[in-house]
Amino acid sequence: MPARGHAEYPPSASDRWAGCVGSTQLIRKKYPKGVPNKQTQATASGTAIHEEAERWALDLGRPADPTSYGLTYKVGGKTHRIDNEEWRPHVIGYITEIHRIVEELRFFTGEEPTIVVEGKVTIIDELCWGSVDCYIYAGNVLYVVDLKTGRGHIVSAEQNKQFMTYAVGICIDHKWKFDEIHLCRYQAPDEAHPFDDWQTDKVTLQAWATELRKIIKTSEAGKGELTSGDHCLWCPVKADCPEQHKTAMSVFDDEEAATLAPVQDMTLEQQLFLVEHSKQITDYIKAVAENVLQMCCEDPKSVPGFKVVEGRSIRKWSKSEDEIGLALQMEGVDATELYEKPKLKSFTKVEKVLGKQRFAELALIEKPPGKPTLVPDSDKRQALNALHMEGFQEE
Ligand code: SF4
Repeated sequence: MPARGHAEYPPSASDRWAGCVGSTQLIRKKYPKGVPNKQTQATASGTAIHEEAERWALDLGRPADPTSYGLTYKVGGKTHRIDNEEWRPHVIGYITEIHRIVEELRFFTGEEPTIVVEGKVTIIDELCWGSVDCYIYAGNVLYVVDLKTGRGHIVSAEQNKQFMTYAVGICIDHKWKFDEIHLCRYQAPDEAHPFDDWQTDKVTLQAWATELRKIIKTSEAGKGELTSGDHCLWCPVKADCPEQHKTAMSVFDDEEAATLAPVQDMTLEQQLFLVEHSKQITDYIKAVAENVLQMCCEDPKSVPGFKVVEGRSIRKWSKSEDEIGLALQMEGVDATELYEKPKLKSFTKVEKVLGKQRFAELALIEKPPGKPTLVPDSDKRQALNALHMEGFQEE
């Protein structure tokens, strides 16, 4: 097997390559030299926050002064700044959890824990390897901690294939000596549960190790099938994928052609067909649009009738709020002209200050009813009854 500079089965994409075993061959065909690293503002700011967290984690015992930093990142030759309020909760919360785990391990095992930051783990040489944000171990206990900075998609640690794959790599490296294994993610935007910890064991991970080897063997033999699902979200070949195309186009099949009729002429089955497939159809169309945008960026003449322009953006302060406030006061502007009333912190933060019990006793929170939403029967939420729905409509 030729040595490759990138992992074709990275743990971070294990949902995709395990859920759709044919996807890696399709990606290899389109990108024989590896998927180009497309920098967007979201990915670049996530990388900058991870790098900051890494610096802090390496500085354990001597936490840096949070006010002395200003985080920036570059995209398209421009430097962007991440507001302190935006990056601090990710880094401080993550480091606090690492400190806590270290203390607990030291206490319960009586050993000095080992902390590995951005450690490379290899599950299968050349094919399946990656870097773990942080893992900590002492005695027969292992903690794997992954930092997530995304707001739109809250990740669960339970049965998380990415974390399980990392843990398999670490366990192989340590000759399967760990009996208690915690797979954790820290995600500040999940205000109610920023730290998610799923405890598993050696047997579960060994079973996953066997399964992932089988998946990779099938894929390498070119026998993997294409299977669409939630794991398609970050797939780099969505626009080229026959399975995505088939699903999107099935809406326009002859027998389903009536779904294009005005809604009052559609049967309930036809309407439900559109509801069930709406996400796949819009995802596919978005992937095609991104593909064309990429072509136009690389060669503006390749897409006649279209051009690439700068999208809308919103104005923001060029420095941190503290620095802007100081600069304006130096200009002689009075502080009362600059600041609005202080804002209350989030529920979770106030609850921490007050204590759970007193917070509940004071009944400080009310939760208005959510808008009626159509979901499949398999959804765990309880169905609304007609009375509730009427109440909502009258409001
Ligand atoms: S888009 Fe989905 S179905 Fe198609 S290759 Fe990617 S993961 Fe598989």
